[in-house]
Order: sequence, then structure tokens, then C-alpha cells
Amino acid sequence: MAADRKFRVVVVGAGIAGLFIAEKLKRAGIDFTVYEKADEVGGTWRDNTYPGLFVDVMSRQYEFPFQPNYDWSRKYAPAPEIQAYIKKVAADRGLRQYIRFNEEIVAALFKDGRWHVKTAKGETDMADVFVAATGFLNQPTYPDIEGRDSFAGPAFHSARWDHSVPHKGKRWGIIGSGCSGVQITEALAWEGAQVTQFIRRAQWIHIRENPRTSWLHRMWLRLPFAYRREQRKLWTFINVMDRWRLEPGPQREAMQREFASYLDAIKDPELKKKLTPQYHLGCTRIPKSDQNYYQAVQTPNVRIENRAIARIVPEGVELRDGTLCKLDVLVYATGFDTHAFMRPMKVTGLNGVTVDEVWKERIYSYGGVALPGFPNLYMLYGPFSPVNNVPVPLGLDQEIGFIMRLIKRARDEGVVIAPSAEATRKFVDRLDNAFPGTVWVGCKNWYSDQHGTPILWPLTQDEHRAFFEREATGDLEIVPVGRAVAASAGAN
Ligand SMILES: Cc1cc2nc3c(=O)[nH]c(=O)nc-3n(C[C@H](O)[C@H](O)[C@H](O)COP(=O)(O)OP(=O)(O)OC[C@H]3O[C@@H](n4cnc5c(N)ncnc54)[C@H](O)[C@@H]3O)c2cc1C
Repeated sequence: MAADRKFRVVVVGAGIAGLFIAEKLKRAGIDFTVYEKADEVGGTWRDNTYPGLFVDVMSRQYEFPFQPNYDWSRKYAPAPEIQAYIKKVAADRGLRQYIRFNEEIVAALFKDGRWHVKTAKGETDMADVFVAATGFLNQPTYPDIEGRDSFAGPAFHSARWDHSVPHKGKRWGIIGSGCSGVQITEALAWEGAQVTQFIRRAQWIHIRENPRTSWLHRMWLRLPFAYRREQRKLWTFINVMDRWRLEPGPQREAMQREFASYLDAIKDPELKKKLTPQYHLGCTRIPKSDQNYYQAVQTPNVRIENRAIARIVPEGVELRDGTLCKLDVLVYATGFDTHAFMRPMKVTGLNGVTVDEVWKERIYSYGGVALPGFPNLYMLYGPFSPVNNVPVPLGLDQEIGFIMRLIKRARDEGVVIAPSAEATRKFVDRLDNAFPGTVWVGCKNWYSDQHGTPILWPLTQDEHRAFFEREATGDLEIVPVGRAVAASAGAN
């Protein structure tokens, strides 16, 4: 690297992942800029403001390890509290000054040993390292239903909630039975709105208590060592409790029985049948119900509709058997493009090869964080990250610890670093071999690619930590910047 210029990092995205690595870069004294296409931090928690959204892991598991929050109001905090906490972290840590809001990155090209980054406004920036913290549930998807644009009333995605629409006195149609569909249906039901939830298939739903945190407990957490002791207990507990996802056995059977027993709260056998899943527990992401969904759907103002939708018409939703469900408001709780990862950014690595090209047959990565042929590029929560069995902040902590070591090495030694193709193949093989016997195989779910292979971490969180803490030099191609310049010459 030329001595006359500063080593720089560009981070894309100011959700929890982008802020997490921003704090680490700041502490390491590395020059960096975060580009955020929206006008605020928070990502998921900024975009999803629908009624009934609570965090699905314990609030205390959803903290940046460098900024404890002793004051969560509930065991599972409501979404506005999570967003307020994220904004507070950004402000307390002085991270906002590094963020360029309303700036979408549309392309990144590795050329002459550096990343050349282009914004939607046509500006360019350059960096030694490019970090995509773009989220795995960031691009809303809409169902391919005839007549979608013809609906006469307000219609919006769950991640784009229209707060100008009053809840009561309206006939709501909620399309979708995943986490968002369940939470919205129960919240609107208890508010007394008329709700029809259109479900293609039933989900296993975790009916749980969500107690307020006591004043005493909040004070206790503030005591020296108490917080750390409590967090340690929490991680140990999760490690043990989550094993049922990875291997068959009595723990999995007990979980399956427990979830089936929640359905016993439904009195009407027809309704119970509609809401009983036909696949095993854990295969899809489990919606968490904090306001007792199974009671909510038995109120007279709620209807569960599992007949197929034929089309959307101005007055509502028409079913295949000709029934018209009249509606005033339509909500698409239809999820996200879970396989976009860094895209639609056009990311071009060595020899002019793009991410779209290398992922054409199969989406893969090294450790969920890097790609062979894309030097000094890192993804946070990229393909094969633990989206299901490790709380996201903990998974990020492990990924970022590894990435920061490599970034510092690139800076100190003037090198570019990428995983070798061989190490990446071994990593993917290891994970592929771990899937049989886990809960994620054997049903259709959003984790799986076009070949039916889930793209998540199918091992324990201890194994995730061990992967990132080990000395990985043997897996990496480490090349002086000068040689990388030659390799990327001609890219444009
Ligand atoms: C409704 C919902 C509920 C969830 N609940 C939970 C939960 O309870 N527990 C849990 O562990 N996880 C939950 N998740 C998963 C959640 O997405 C992660 O926990 C976490 O918030 C991801 O953070 P992130 O920073 O990686 O991504 P995001 O929060 O998606 O942030 C990515 C950011 O990058 C920005 N960005 C993307 N592309 C570009 C670009 N090209 N240029 C500039 N900026 C860009 C986006 O605007 C966004 O701000 C939930 C997700 C959803 C959608």
C-alpha cells in the first residue's frame, strides 16, 4: 500500500451488523465510512413497525456485548424498544458521524488492489476493505397473485406498515402465516379489528409468557459481575436447550409434544385442523406468540382462511372456489428475499467475475463471511450464518472478531486476503454433511436454496465460535497488494 494514503474500510448498512463492526473499526483507529440507504439506523427494527412485533429471543440476548441494557421492560422486548436501544447505541458510541444516510451502494468493483464503490447518486468511493452488512431479511417480497394492483383500499407489506390506517372498524386481510402474519393477526384481533388471515399452510407456533421485568432484577443486573454472570448462564442454557434442532432424540420429541399441546387450546375441531402443521417442528422459523394467538383466532372477529387465493380484486380477495372475501385493508406478511444477501448490489471480484455469476448454481461462502476470488470483502450474516440457533448479536460477535483480525492484518502487512477455493469447498462440505438429522431438512422453508439445501449454520454455537477463533491462515490466500493489483488489472 502506498505510504501516502490511509487504509480505509467501507461498510454498507447501518443495522445492528453495520453498527457493530463500525464500533470495532472506530476502536481500532481504522478510517471507515458506513453507507446507509435509509435515513436512520436500525435496519430490520427501523423498517418493521407492525403491531405485535416483539423480539423472539430474550431481550438480553439481543444486546451489543459492548453496551448492556439493564432496562428492558419485558423478557421479550417490543420492537420499538429494540429500535430505541439501537439508536441509543449509535448516539452513545458516536457512530452517527461515520454514517452517510440516504446513500445506497449499487456496485463495488475490486480493481488495482482496492474496492471501488459506486452510490445510486453516481458518486464513487474507494476502500481497501469492503464490508456488506446488508441484512438477510431486508428486501420485502410480494406474492405473485393476479390482480395485486387492483385492490381499492390501502395495501402494504408488513415491513412497510401504513400507520395512517386506523385498526378498528376496518376489515383486514393478512396474507401469510409466518412470524409477521401471526403477530399482526393476534395484535389486530385483540384490538377488536375484523381480521381474515389467509394461510397456505399452518405453522408451529410458540405460545409463550412475556412477563415484565421487575425493578429488583434491573437493579441486580447493575451490580458488579452480576450482569456477566447472568449472561454466561444464559449462553450455557441456550447451548443445551437448542440441541433438539441438531439431533433427533427425547429432547426433540418432548418439544414436539409441547408445541402440539398448545393447539389443544383450540376448541373448534375444524379450526384446529386448519392450524395443525403437516411437517415437523423447527423446519420453518417458529413464530413466537406473546399475545396468545390460539386464543386470538377464536375471537368472533377473526377468520382463518386456508382455501387457495385465485386473485385480488378491488373489493378484496377472491378464492379459487369463487368466494369473495370483502376487505378494506390488505397486508402482505409475505416475507423477504432471503437469498439476496449482498444483492442487488453488483459486486465484482478478481478477473471481472461477479457475485451473481459465482452464486448462479449455488449460493455459498466461507464461514458465512467471505468468498474466494473476492479479496478483502466480508459479509456479515452472509450465506451459512446461524440464522436460527445462535442469537444474532452473538453470531455477529464471533464473525466480527474474525473479520477484524483479518482487516488489521491487511492494514499492517499491506496484503489482500481471501479464502481459498479449497477451504471454502471443505467448509461447505462440512455443513452439507451436518444437515441430515437436523430439523431444517424435510420441508419447504425460506432457509433452503433452489436445490433444497438450507443455507444456515447446522452446528452448535460452540462450533461457530471455535470456527472463528481458530488460526485460519491455512484457509486463506494472502497476497501483497502489488500482486493483487496485477491480478485485478483490466477489471472495469
Ligand atoms: C420482522 C422481523 C423480525 C425479526 N425478529 C428477530 C428476532 O426477534 N430475533 C432475531 O435474532 N432476529 C430477528 N430478525 C432478524 C433480523 O433481521 C436480525 O436480527 C438483525 O436485525 C439483522 O441485522 P443486520 O444489520 O444484519 O441487517 P438489517 O437490519 O436488515 O440492516 C441492513 C441495513 O443495510 C441497509 N442496506 C442494505 N442494502 C444497502 C445498500 N445497497 N446500500 C446502503 N444500505 C443498504 C438497509 O437499509 C439496512 O439498514 C427479524 C427480522 C424481521 C424482518
